[in-house]
Amino acid sequence: MRIGSPKEIKNHEYRVGLTPESARELVVHGHEVWIESGAGAGIGAGDADYQAAGAIIKPSAAEIFAECTMVVKVKEPQAEERAQLREGQILYTYLHLAPDAPQTQDLLKSGVTAIAYETVTGQRGGLPLLKPMSQVAGRMSIQAGATALEKINGGRGMLLGGVPGVMPAKVAVIGGGVVGFNAAQMAAGLGADLTILDRDPEVLEQLGIHFESRAKTRFSNEANLEESVCEADLVIGAVLIPGAAAPKLVSRDLLKKMKSGAVLVDVAIDQGGCFETSRATTHQDPTYIVDDVVHYCVANMPGAVARTSTYALNNVTLPHALAIANLGWKDALRANPHLAAGLNVHAGQVTYKAVADELGYEW
Ligand code: NAD
Repeated sequence: MRIGSPKEIKNHEYRVGLTPESARELVVHGHEVWIESGAGAGIGAGDADYQAAGAIIKPSAAEIFAECTMVVKVKEPQAEERAQLREGQILYTYLHLAPDAPQTQDLLKSGVTAIAYETVTGQRGGLPLLKPMSQVAGRMSIQAGATALEKINGGRGMLLGGVPGVMPAKVAVIGGGVVGFNAAQMAAGLGADLTILDRDPEVLEQLGIHFESRAKTRFSNEANLEESVCEADLVIGAVLIPGAAAPKLVSRDLLKKMKSGAVLVDVAIDQGGCFETSRATTHQDPTYIVDDVVHYCVANMPGAVARTSTYALNNVTLPHALAIANLGWKDALRANPHLAAGLNVHAGQVTYKAVADELGYEW
């Protein structure tokens, strides 16, 4: 199969659909890989790296859209990309169609077969093609929080781990799922005084087994939340209620009771945020201050570490890309119901129930 990756054109998107290593893997399996010149620049992969992997460099995205059977990307296709998609072509990328009627309409019109990373399921449950981005965001949240705690950034002027003879900072992680677990690992590794809150007893139990004495676990109710947030120097918001907006767990009133110079990192901002005073920020201007509390609310945290994120993403997307290339999309989906769950649009039909329901298409 001929497989291509264009350069991502969404604003400030530095990731790329295929790393040189993934391109090599596809080539080794007998496929032809076309990469747009400069597509890997944001992750430090030059055209020569792709050529060394056996890929063919193309000067523009137009040839890739016109002649590749499968297009592998990271972000949903932008309007100018959608105009180039065609019937019978396979699009394999993040799509997030439910809140995006214009994109859905264009994909339907194009006749493309669109497989969305975010709805592919895993053998042990969950959404394995989303997981690496939560891992990245969770780990980054502690770095971001540590920087925001510096005096010059409006923080309390504290080092997370303290130093011998000086107490470490108190970190409260709300939500002990993928983001929260990864945040907790970083905070524990730096020697912070760590508390993790969750509502799921199983999650609390697993956290307790994993972290032992390096973290306290607490059931997330009003009283425990209030106490933990008021004591904390750094609070990480990492909750998720699948399919719903994030619950507002820190109200404006509670914010007023926090320490001056404390920091809130709202990783759940992509679901509306779990602090009442959160509003989405960007990597250019990531923080703002309300009532002396520093807020960090970047909605696309993994974008800042495009290289790590691309490699993490390719680790989970490549096996399916290979299956599609080796078997053809129909047989690959028949052979693997988890991959089949990724099919969102095919030949002018919405093929994913939640998207059809949300946007009013026939099901
Ligand atoms: P997850 O499902 O793995 O974990 C969420 C956890 O929150 C669960 O353990 C759940 O029990 C817990 N929870 C739910 N309600 C709670 C409450 N009231 N109090 C305490 N815990 C509660 O989800 P995840 O992958 O860790 O993602 C967390 C959030 O981070 C999501 O909104 C996700 O979209 C977001 N995210 C943001 C970025 C970014 O760049 N900002 C990147 C990746 C993920």
